Amino acid sequence: MPTDPVAPVAPTHPTEPARSTDPAHPARRDLLRTGLATGAATALGLASTAGPASAAPAPGPANGDRTLTLTGHLPTGAPDFVLLPVEVPDGVREIAVSYGYDKPQVPTGTPGNSCDIGIFDERGTDLGGDGFRGWSGGFRTEFALSRGTATPGYLPGPVNAGTWHIVLGPYQVAPQGLDYHVQVTLRFGEPGPEFTPHYPPERARGRGRAWYRGDCHLHTVHSDGHRLPEEVAAGARAAGLDFIVSTDHNTSSSHAVWGPLAGPDLLIVTGEEVTTRNGHWLALGLEPGRFVDWRYRSRDEEHPRFVRRVRRDGGLVVPAHPYCPFVACQWKFGYEQADAVEVWNGPWTYDDESAVDTWDAGLAVALRGGDGSRGRSWLPAMGNSDAHSDPHVIGLPHNVVLAEDLSRDAVLDGLRAGRSWLAESAAVELDLTATGHGRQAGIGEELTVPADAPVDVRLTVSGVPGGTVRLITDEGQMHQESLPAGGSGTVVWRTTASLAGYVRAEVRHPKADGTPGRGNSMGGDLPWGPMAALTNPIVLRAEDR
Ligand SMILES: [Zn+2]
Ligand SMILES: [Zn+2]
Repeated sequence: MPTDPVAPVAPTHPTEPARSTDPAHPARRDLLRTGLATGAATALGLASTAGPASAAPAPGPANGDRTLTLTGHLPTGAPDFVLLPVEVPDGVREIAVSYGYDKPQVPTGTPGNSCDIGIFDERGTDLGGDGFRGWSGGFRTEFALSRGTATPGYLPGPVNAGTWHIVLGPYQVAPQGLDYHVQVTLRFGEPGPEFTPHYPPERARGRGRAWYRGDCHLHTVHSDGHRLPEEVAAGARAAGLDFIVSTDHNTSSSHAVWGPLAGPDLLIVTGEEVTTRNGHWLALGLEPGRFVDWRYRSRDEEHPRFVRRVRRDGGLVVPAHPYCPFVACQWKFGYEQADAVEVWNGPWTYDDESAVDTWDAGLAVALRGGDGSRGRSWLPAMGNSDAHSDPHVIGLPHNVVLAEDLSRDAVLDGLRAGRSWLAESAAVELDLTATGHGRQAGIGEELTVPADAPVDVRLTVSGVPGGTVRLITDEGQMHQESLPAGGSGTVVWRTTASLAGYVRAEVRHPKADGTPGRGNSMGGDLPWGPMAALTNPIVLRAEDR
């Protein structure tokens, strides 16, 4: 899940396209002017505002700090983002912000108020622009930033004079509307020392070409997790992982702290969970410090430019938890521009079944090769923990990737090629091959053989007591076999390239009632227990087709 254990609400959001001006919502309603704030609460790129706001100076402490309070009301239908301009004069050392909003009673089943916050500097608020200085979603009620330091989620750096913007993201608005108050304190003085980022190295010691285990979806205090980066790195080592990707929601602030936490035994790759109102995607393998904007919806047609941006960095675009039922968490951008898809997110739940079904259905379509190119365009599956805080288990699940080395590029190459399988923990070992006509292929590879030549599919697995193996092709489940009681065994099944366009494996735990589950059956309850391991396919090609 995009599991914030505190509330089933994702932490951030996107842009709305311009809407027509409505007399009931007059455009650019002016704020009261003060020495610090001017102009209107404007929605990003919009001609209309969400409602009246007001700004009033409050008495500041005697040391010359200046404090400003911004208040306003956002009705149902408020823009996805509301911009509150703040004039920052010369000589400001630190900007500190706190905020809150009312939470009126709502009937059961009606969303209550939920409002995110972040800040953009004098470089502006354009989508994909340079002004981003941090976002904390709905996780924090206050933050501060200066040249040398910032609250996690925010970027230390120059506090230049000019018009900055507090950005509110009214994520859910109660029928009564949302009353907010934002307090901005400008602290004057000499800027502190410059911030030095410590980005992680792009390579760890590794074992040359080998299978490496990695969790590519992890949160820290830099978004809505309670774990420090140190705790995440320790958890990854304890889980037996070789690499992790850091994917805090909608910020790059953690990138600069991973350096000392990586090591010869642990590769740390920088990324982001791009958290839009129409689903979340993982940007894996970002250039350290790179921020990917998330303030768009599917209808805005902005997604392709950010996909290109990530790919220019050599990164991967991976839709996350596509069927998660939480508000704004379902994937609505399609899969045409994805490099892989996260079909297994955290402990196994019914939405993962849906994700695997959708992914599986796409495999045969992708392998159709109608243009004769036989290009390998199927979408690899991934599994990640999305762990935020205790008791979320880092590495449940993770990817086991065949990579040339334990380096950022090699690991991403393996994932991009689908040379990987998904494991619930490092206790699970698995090997899958297809052999025929004197040739052999492994996970993510192709075996080309005469159409009717026998192909032996061999799966060896261990670490799943009571487990059941399923072998699945474009025809569905073609073979089911229970493992010996100890949970280790080998399953061999014969097919041909004419019968099966691909073959992939699942290993399932028993159902809650202790039975193994039954493929090829219908019934009122779920047919399977939780997933223990899942492979990407081996593609079977008939030589003469
Ligand atoms: Zn998410
Ligand atoms: Zn997440």
